[in-house]
Amino acid sequence: MRLLNRSHRRLASFVFALALVAALFFTPAALLQAAEDGEIVPCTPCRGDGVCRARDCKEGKIPCYSECLKPDAPEWTKRQIEGQSEADAEKLWFPYAYKVNGKKETAWFGREQAGELIAIEKGQPVSRGRCPGCAGSGRIVCQSCVGSGKCFACLGEGKFVRGRNLLTLTDALQGRAMEAVVRSRTAERVTVLRLADLKVFDIPLDKLSAESNELLAQRFPLAP
Ligand SMILES: [Zn+2]
Ligand SMILES: [Zn+2]
Ligand SMILES: [Zn+2]
Repeated sequence: MRLLNRSHRRLASFVFALALVAALFFTPAALLQAAEDGEIVPCTPCRGDGVCRARDCKEGKIPCYSECLKPDAPEWTKRQIEGQSEADAEKLWFPYAYKVNGKKETAWFGREQAGELIAIEKGQPVSRGRCPGCAGSGRIVCQSCVGSGKCFACLGEGKFVRGRNLLTLTDALQGRAMEAVVRSRTAERVTVLRLADLKVFDIPLDKLSAESNELLAQRFPLAP
């Protein structure tokens, strides 16, 4: 009985010593990092396919904001008018809707005017020539993906990989942790996408804990 008690006590002190060593050599953040390295975190804005989900974005372009005759608009159509020339009967026209004194009217613009900017002058829609906003293409660069067509958050990858680009960074003063996707770094700062709200911003390295600085130096070494 005495023997058993003694061995229990020995075991207890051994466990305590182990815990002390662990506490000295590993911070909780470092343990977390080691445990979850390689974990795949799917990107939520693109639902994993890496494609830009900004409204109406197609291959990095969105419809021009200006009131121009969009060449790829679905409204272009043939027009049946009695007595029109054969060429005009074959041509595509755009039915431009506008209002005069609250009454709905339609002005028809021929295909050769695609890409022109329309303005109302003295109650009538008139062309102001090629649209300066889109140079007549009807499409402009999407601000979300800057023309790449790729998701702004994962830059087309559809996921984040813990330990490779997704790191848990802690601040120097309060030890608060942040799930951060590292975009780039310099000797002074790191540019991250915060996973919680998908905001991109810079963090000065001196605001990060020593552990986080070490982690960054390891995973994102500065180019010589
Ligand atoms: Zn335009
Ligand atoms: Zn886009
Ligand atoms: Zn994405």
